[in-house]
Amino acid sequence: MTALPTQADIAIIGGGMVGVTLALMLARELPQLQVVLIEGQRFPALDLSQPLPYTAGFDARNTALSRRTVQAFTDLGLWQQLQPHATPIHQIHISDRGHFGLSRLRADEEHVESFGQVMENAWLGVVLLAALKACPSVTLCDGVAVTALATSAESATLTLQRGDDEPTTLRVPLVVAADGTQSRSREWLGLGARWHDYGQTALVTTIATSLPHEHIAFERFTADGPIALLPLPDARDQPAQTRRSLVWALKTEAAQRVLALSDAAFLAEFQQAFGRRAGRFTRVGQRHAYPLQLMVAHQQTVPRAVILGNAAHSLHPVAGQGFNLCLRDVLVLVESLREATLAGADLGNAQHLQAYEAKRTADQQQIIRFSDSLVRGFSNANPLLQLARNIGLLGFDLLPGAKPLVARYAMGLSHV
Ligand SMILES: Cc1cc2nc3c(=O)[nH]c(=O)nc-3n(C[C@H](O)[C@H](O)[C@H](O)COP(=O)(O)OP(=O)(O)OC[C@H]3O[C@@H](n4cnc5c(N)ncnc54)[C@H](O)[C@@H]3O)c2cc1C
Repeated sequence: MTALPTQADIAIIGGGMVGVTLALMLARELPQLQVVLIEGQRFPALDLSQPLPYTAGFDARNTALSRRTVQAFTDLGLWQQLQPHATPIHQIHISDRGHFGLSRLRADEEHVESFGQVMENAWLGVVLLAALKACPSVTLCDGVAVTALATSAESATLTLQRGDDEPTTLRVPLVVAADGTQSRSREWLGLGARWHDYGQTALVTTIATSLPHEHIAFERFTADGPIALLPLPDARDQPAQTRRSLVWALKTEAAQRVLALSDAAFLAEFQQAFGRRAGRFTRVGQRHAYPLQLMVAHQQTVPRAVILGNAAHSLHPVAGQGFNLCLRDVLVLVESLREATLAGADLGNAQHLQAYEAKRTADQQQIIRFSDSLVRGFSNANPLLQLARNIGLLGFDLLPGAKPLVARYAMGLSHV
């Protein structure tokens, strides 16, 4: 077994969607920098004859990638490999169960070919990890946990633990922690956070319908929580355009009950909640549960360290914004590091890192507020609020400027 590195230019903690994307962008934009990516879990063997492998970061979920995110993967030269596993969103239907309001966003009205693309996280993992393994400037340390992190004026020091081996010390000028919502790095760096528990759990699965999806994404609000039904690429064993990705947010107790239902009972209950707009629900895959909360770190940088991805902000998935927002953080961070490198500056320089954080504040706050107000606004059973919601959805259709604004959020164009 190869020895773990003890020095590098940048260490990334966490090989989820954000850590891996950052490593790929650094390898492309700043190949002269030695980057070490440390992931606690083992990465799977990329054997495409086997069922898709899941890891902690690339799991059973599907992600709606905004146009901005798709552009970033295109710039990385990876969209050609990702595209066969993605399907475009041409329309977004927003509705409120039991009420008259309905709004439709159409890509052609916004003069774009699609709002974005949906793909399975596991496929994203297969393509991104294969690309990363081919990057000479990145050392991948999977199956290695970071068990401690400290910063000083000179460096960030990480303790690396591989199985029962003796711990190793890695020293770098800059550490980027993308170790998820429950980030231990955030604590080691002394960065507090604001939490809000929505009291909801998202049930995530793949579901088949009798009607073709026609590239429509449904966003349906119910008293228990929102439902997102997104088009998925075809599978060999299913009629064309009948696979959809489902995220069904329910009060946590209800979610536990629904999780335990038989497939037939689940399909019947979901049909009741969603209605007939997508036809009959005919088949459901394995169900997975994700507790939903809002977490926003009070601060995202200290000298020699940045927290990124879900470690910095973790949102309700209602509007499919989480990863897309993280990716825009990654783009700006890489640009800041490129400028620092060109200027011959220290990578972990506090002023540079603070400038990065300041550049990201407006976009982050806007998206966090947008997602949070959608959940809270639509979770309220107050009849006056319900009326306002319906008028809101109808008015939203008629109000000049409102639809293009939400369309811009969906496309990931809110700020960058
Ligand atoms: C149900 C649901 C649906 C969603 N849908 C969308 C969507 O459609 N569009 C969208 O933009 N976003 C969506 N999101 C949000 C998106 O999934 C997240 O923003 C994204 O996964 C964040 O990735 P991450 O890499 O920051 O964190 P994670 O995926 O949590 O990865 C963290 C990684 O760090 C590793 N790690 C942790 N601690 C250590 C340690 N000490 N040492 C080494 N490694 C460590 C973990 O093993 C893990 O691999 C959704 C979220 C949910 C819950």
